[in-house]
Amino acid sequence: CGIFGYCHFLIEKTRGEIIETLLGGLQALEYKGYDSSGISIQGDELGSLDIYKQTGKISNLREEIDLRNPNKNLSFISHCGIAHTRWATHGEPKRTNCHPLNSDPSNEFVVVHNGVITNFANLKALLGEKGYVFKSDTDTECIAKLYKKIYDTSIELGFNLDFHVLTNLVLNELEGSYGLLCTSSHFPDEVVAARKGSPLVIGVKGKRSIKTDVVEVEYLDQNENYLEINAPTKNSEDILDELPVQYNSSLRKSPPLRSQY
Ligand code: GLU
Repeated sequence: CGIFGYCHFLIEKTRGEIIETLLGGLQALEYKGYDSSGISIQGDELGSLDIYKQTGKISNLREEIDLRNPNKNLSFISHCGIAHTRWATHGEPKRTNCHPLNSDPSNEFVVVHNGVITNFANLKALLGEKGYVFKSDTDTECIAKLYKKIYDTSIELGFNLDFHVLTNLVLNELEGSYGLLCTSSHFPDEVVAARKGSPLVIGVKGKRSIKTDVVEVEYLDQNENYLEINAPTKNSEDILDELPVQYNSSLRKSPPLRSQY
């Protein structure tokens, strides 16, 4: 499958433009999987997330979006959206199995995923016992539910986890392979990306700060070009040795201004 995320900060964009960017990203990835597709973008309420999904080609998703007729003129100064084209591994291609998958009906956590979570049956059983109701047959849904479970538990215990730390706690529970993106109504204008065994590339335009498990990069691209970083894989023992070779040549030409660890 293909996953695609798009964030902008401090530039005004309309919802229509954001949708087009996400659909354009999916179109470019369509060859990687095309039994279904879906996107998640901010809803009308501040911080809320809406999901649009449909089986079949991306043109079907476009029709579904048009049918629901979101206000495309609404504009956002900052926004993060995520998108997916699916090639089903668990659960037949039907609407409830399309990504993005959510943690609950109000979309507190929304996930797109490439790969296979091999311990999903155990996680599903465990979360089922705690009252989580699964709406799909996918392995992916347990990731969204895990986010909510760990988030709710941390709040009960009085912790105020940031999205990055919360993600690491979720990833610790997962076995198998993933390239995933998650957005959350609890963390507006943030998207987390993680990968293990699946490829993931981050493109950056302008001055941005990217925080990963192994490096924090503040990058100023004076030519306003996109910078591509092959995101470092998590759980790799020799990750620090690997890191320089994982950056592609565009980063080497223009080194980050600051890095740590
Ligand atoms: N295993 C997930 C599913 O079946 C993701 C498949 C994919 O990579 O498209 O929904």
